[in-house]
Amino acid sequence: YQLPALMSSCRICTLSTLPIELHGPGSAGQTEYSKEFCPKLHAEGMFVPHWPEAFGGLGGNSWDHFILGEELWAVGEPRGPQYMNVNWIGPVLMRYGSPEQQERFLPEMREGKVTWCQGFSEPSAGSDLAALRTHAEPVEGGYRVTGAKVWTSYAGLGDYCFLLARTSSDRKGGIVILLVDMTSPGIQVKDIPSVIGRGDIHEVFFDDVFVPADRLLGEIGQAWEIINFGLANERIGIPRYAFSERMVHRAVERLKTDGRYNDPVIQDRLGRVLALCQAARLLVYKVIDERAKGKEPNAYGNLARWSVVRADQAVNDFMTEFMPDGLLGADPMQTAHHQRAIAAGIASGAAEIQLNLAARRHLNLPGDK
Ligand SMILES: Cc1cc2nc3c(=O)[nH]c(=O)nc-3n(C[C@H](O)[C@H](O)[C@H](O)COP(=O)(O)OP(=O)(O)OC[C@H]3O[C@@H](n4cnc5c(N)ncnc54)[C@H](O)[C@@H]3O)c2cc1C
Repeated sequence: YQLPALMSSCRICTLSTLPIELHGPGSAGQTEYSKEFCPKLHAEGMFVPHWPEAFGGLGGNSWDHFILGEELWAVGEPRGPQYMNVNWIGPVLMRYGSPEQQERFLPEMREGKVTWCQGFSEPSAGSDLAALRTHAEPVEGGYRVTGAKVWTSYAGLGDYCFLLARTSSDRKGGIVILLVDMTSPGIQVKDIPSVIGRGDIHEVFFDDVFVPADRLLGEIGQAWEIINFGLANERIGIPRYAFSERMVHRAVERLKTDGRYNDPVIQDRLGRVLALCQAARLLVYKVIDERAKGKEPNAYGNLARWSVVRADQAVNDFMTEFMPDGLLGADPMQTAHHQRAIAAGIASGAAEIQLNLAARRHLNLPGDK
């Protein structure tokens, strides 16, 4: 097994014909595309190479996974929503799922056939996730769930929801994780139109939805630990800088063609944004290296996410200031990058919170709560 040898970007580009207009955040079109693309990637042994062999992977390490992630992000992330299955939902199930849950969910996940959505945020619970109010009432044979989620990506085409709800008012201890079938009676999904495109984010309403007891993930009282494990994997699993760097190189080409590349102001700014991309890359590599060595997640994961967001935003600021025509129709890829960049600092949790966590865990400063 020689994964790095397989991973030439050329090979992946041949597999991926993701149309440029789908390079932005998760539109319905991108979700549909992922259902064609991911099984092809699976057939090449490149979908879950880092999963243990016992769960159908190739037993590769975090580096294999990340090299692949960089290549795919650079071409617009054709895995669409399924990056979540690969990066964190699958690994969470491997660590905390019952044998029956693993048997039920992991095979279709590793074959690239299924879309999950993440039912965490609520109207009054975003950064303060433990304030969530969706209620799961224990009943004969399972739970009855009532409540509302918001900003849920991919819910419109989701097969399952990784849902957080609570059975009691105990802030963290009362939370449970339910693996919910999105076709269950009582679930209503509404699209939220936004500047990042249609079909990307949603409201999801649960009205007395029955969830069988065997869809409870982990033990009662264990949810907060599982959430943190999942988020640590999610946060670092997105090499956005690969797409941003590609944009910088495209910008250089365009500026040369337009005869503007020798402008010292432009060169200064370009150098700075490229340095931010490289800094993000190196911080992420540190985290990946530690993970490959089996270390537990630490504050570097928070710092890496912050720097990835900063790099994305700096590239977007540069492009918007010096090449605004790209956002007015001249360059659909720039528009797609812009849409991703403006959501980057909030979509996987507000980036500022990462600074709080790093301050507390890394600098031993007093917490905000
Ligand atoms: C494109 C997109 C996709 C998303 N997809 C999903 C999804 O699939 N599933 C899901 O569950 N959620 C999703 N979200 C929601 C996202 O996780 C939340 O928006 C995020 O956690 C922030 O929560 P909030 O919107 O309630 O903002 P708030 O928590 O109210 O934060 C608002 C602002 O206040 C700042 N702030 C808040 N608390 C602090 C603090 N203690 N210290 C410093 N600053 C603070 C934040 O940094 C932020 O700038 C998505 C959001 C977007 C934009």
